[in-house]
Amino acid sequence: MPDLPEFPLAPLFEHLADAVYLIDPEDSRIVWGNRAAWAMLGLSPREVIDHSVLSLQMDVTGLPQWQDIAQAIRASECFTFVGRHRHAAGHEVPVEVNTTQVELNGKHWFLSVARDVGRRLALERELRQREHQLWFALNEATDGLWDWDIAAGTLFFSPQLKRMLGYGPDEMHPVLSTWSDNIHPDDAPRVMAELQAHLNGQRARYEAEYRLRNRNGVYLWVHDVGRVCDRDERGQPTRAVGMVQDVTERKELQLQLERIAVHDFLTGLANRREGMAYLEAQVALCRRLGLPLALCFIDIDHFKSINDSHGHAVGDEVLRCVAHTLRALVRREDLVCRWGGEEFVLIAPGIDAQQGLQLAEKVCAAVQALPADGLPAVTVSIGVAALPAHGPEPALLIEQADRALYQAKRSGRNRVLLGASASQGSAEPQG
Ligand code: GH3
Ligand code: MG
Ligand code: MG
Repeated sequence: MPDLPEFPLAPLFEHLADAVYLIDPEDSRIVWGNRAAWAMLGLSPREVIDHSVLSLQMDVTGLPQWQDIAQAIRASECFTFVGRHRHAAGHEVPVEVNTTQVELNGKHWFLSVARDVGRRLALERELRQREHQLWFALNEATDGLWDWDIAAGTLFFSPQLKRMLGYGPDEMHPVLSTWSDNIHPDDAPRVMAELQAHLNGQRARYEAEYRLRNRNGVYLWVHDVGRVCDRDERGQPTRAVGMVQDVTERKELQLQLERIAVHDFLTGLANRREGMAYLEAQVALCRRLGLPLALCFIDIDHFKSINDSHGHAVGDEVLRCVAHTLRALVRREDLVCRWGGEEFVLIAPGIDAQQGLQLAEKVCAAVQALPADGLPAVTVSIGVAALPAHGPEPALLIEQADRALYQAKRSGRNRVLLGASASQGSAEPQG
């Protein structure tokens, strides 16, 4: 080491795990190195000291390139270079080299610290591969995954998710609107509120069941679950991931069961259970708001004889026809249910006893005027009860209307009677 300066820091560097070199900037010669400087490369001190640093490098080809590098080192406070050193055994050692300029005894030198990053790179590779495998396994196990980089505004859709929606691997632009624009408009506000509640931290996770449009414009029912997995230093969410399951079959079955549970199979009207639930809810609401409510108990006259003379099938057709007439007569807020057999109950919130009577008269007239269409002519008798006179309980309203109906039957059928109010004690004949 002919012109090696006094290097007072040498003992400090000697036992570092990173390789430390002192280099002459002019000719790239290594003038000093610590133990790791040669041990890391399987060399002896003699094979390193006084040799050009270029002999260690696989990525720097000659002195002209070294001159450029030297210039860059001089211009920067700490020059970082990621490259490959050559090991004596033949393999390469990936290194990250940080070089600074130091002044010793009036001359400039380069002090390079080279770190073997082979292990770190291998770990990173392994991690990436694991993440890839995990992602792949999850993707196959579910109907699709999404990965939303909130900060960057990108939303990655997994191939499986694209397949579920009928798209090819290169379709579906990776932005939030690709997803949100295809949510059924009736479901979108609820889904967005769920997502927002999770992003705000009000809910531990995001979960929603909604209709999502596929490539053919058909809506699938999906179950979507996700979670924020990264936040910035202020706690704002920056990334969220989730998975989507196609639950169309299960959901349609569920909806069908719900329809069956609340609808009458023959007429398609609400069934008695649904009618009763509606009556209870509307009675409570009207009482709270101080509004009236009318209830009509409708029964087909001599229906048994229709069955007897024309057969059950014709009887069924008559029931469907009367149901259709009733439905056509009521307002949106009214509900007609099939109470049982040939009996129907009409619930009309917001109208009083007199208006209820008029409505019942209209029903009576409409049924009587039904075109024959090959069906026997029928009439109905109707008992009417109303809030507040015949309340306040739903069961009391039903009872009063039923009594009025009984009276209507007794007084000749094809007519309408208003239930007796508490003070009058008996049904009042009308018309
Ligand atoms: P009223 O004028 O006093 O009401 O006499 P009605 O014959 O209508 O009354 P009743 O209660 O004696 O008979 C009702 C009939 O309705 C008996 C039953 O067989 C028939 N019925 C009940 N449900 C159905 C149904 O779903 N389809 C058919 N076709 N008939 C039904
Ligand atoms: Mg009956
Ligand atoms: Mg009857």
